[in-house]
Amino acid sequence: MLKAFQYRLYPSKAQSEALLEMLETCRRLYNRSLAERRDAYEREGKSLNYYDQANTLREQRMQNQYLARVNYSATQDVLRRLDKAFQAFFRRVKAGEKPGYPRFKVKGRYDSVTFPAYGNGCRLKDGRLYFQHVGRVKLKLHRPLEGRIKTVTVRRKADGWYASFVCEVEAVPLPPSDKMCGVDLGLESFAVTSDGEFFPAAKYLRKAARNLKRLQRQVSRREKGSNRRKKAVHRLAKAHLHIANQRKDTAHKVARSLVNRYGLIAVEDLKVGNMLKNHRLAGSISDAGWNLFVNILKAKAAEAGRQVVEVDPRNTSQACSGCGRIVPKPLSERWHTCPACGTSLHRDVNAAINILRRAAA
Ligand SMILES: [Zn+2]
Repeated sequence: MLKAFQYRLYPSKAQSEALLEMLETCRRLYNRSLAERRDAYEREGKSLNYYDQANTLREQRMQNQYLARVNYSATQDVLRRLDKAFQAFFRRVKAGEKPGYPRFKVKGRYDSVTFPAYGNGCRLKDGRLYFQHVGRVKLKLHRPLEGRIKTVTVRRKADGWYASFVCEVEAVPLPPSDKMCGVDLGLESFAVTSDGEFFPAAKYLRKAARNLKRLQRQVSRREKGSNRRKKAVHRLAKAHLHIANQRKDTAHKVARSLVNRYGLIAVEDLKVGNMLKNHRLAGSISDAGWNLFVNILKAKAAEAGRQVVEVDPRNTSQACSGCGRIVPKPLSERWHTCPACGTSLHRDVNAAINILRRAAA
C-alpha cells in the first residue's frame, strides 16, 4: 500500500529561487500545452492526448533553456496532470454534468512539481534532498521515512517549502478485534461513538473564522498590486494553512484512537449525508472537515487491517435505537427520548448506535 510522508525543506536563497523558477517553467508548460490542445481542437477538430504532447518535449527542451533546466520526467508529469484534467472534463461531459473546461493556471497558483520516479532527478542523500538543477536542499526528517520511495513532490505553501514522499509500505495489521463501533460526525462534538465516547469539536475554528474575516478585510482594503496588499494576502494564506493543519491534526488523532481499538468502524456515507442531514449548515460542514477525517480513517484502517463501513445516514438521528420508531426532533434538541419504548440518551449516541446497526446488518 502507498503512504505519504511530508517534510519541511529549508532551501538557501539561491535554491529557493531555482525552485521558484522550476515551478514557473512547469506552469508555463502546462498553460502552453493546454492552449495547444484547445487550438488543435478548435482549428482541426483534433483531440491531442498525452503521448502526442509528450512526443514534442525533447524538441521543446532544445529550444527552451528554461525547460531544459527541469528534470525530464518531472516535465512529463506536468503533461500527465493536464491529461488528467482533460480526462475528468470528458468524464463530466459524458455524465451530463456541468463540464468546466480545464483552466489556465495563473501565476502563483501552480505550486508543486512531481518527480514521478524516485532517483531520477531527485534523491535523498546524507540528510539532504537533491533536486536536479537546484542542488542539495536541507530538510527536516521529523519522523522516519518508511518503505520504498516511489515519487517525490516539492510544494510551495504559504509558510515555506515542503517535500512529500509517496512510499510503498507493507501493511502492518493490528491484532484482530471483534469490537465494533458506529460514529456520528457532528458539529457540537466532532465525533460521537455508539459506546458513548465524545470527541470534542476543535475550539480553534470559530476563533480562526473571525481572524480570517479580519485578514480578508485587510486584503480588500489595500490597493491592488501594492506591497502592503501582498503582505496581507500572504498573512491570509498562512492563516488558512494553519487551520488546515489543525483540522488534519484533529482528524489524525481521532482516527488513530478509533482504529487502535475497533475492528469495525461504521460511519455515515457523506456523499449522501451532507445533502440530507444538515443542509442549513453547509459552511460549518466544510469547517468540520468530515471528508478529510473519513479519508484518513480509511487509510489508517487499511494499514491496520481494520474495516470501515459507510452506511446510508438517512434517519439515523430520528430513528430510535431502542425500537426503530421515528422520533422527529429539531437539530437544537440534543436528547433523544422515545415515547414508545422509553429509550433515553444523547441524540448523537442514539445516531451512532443506528449507524453501527446498519453496518452490522
Ligand atoms: Zn423507542
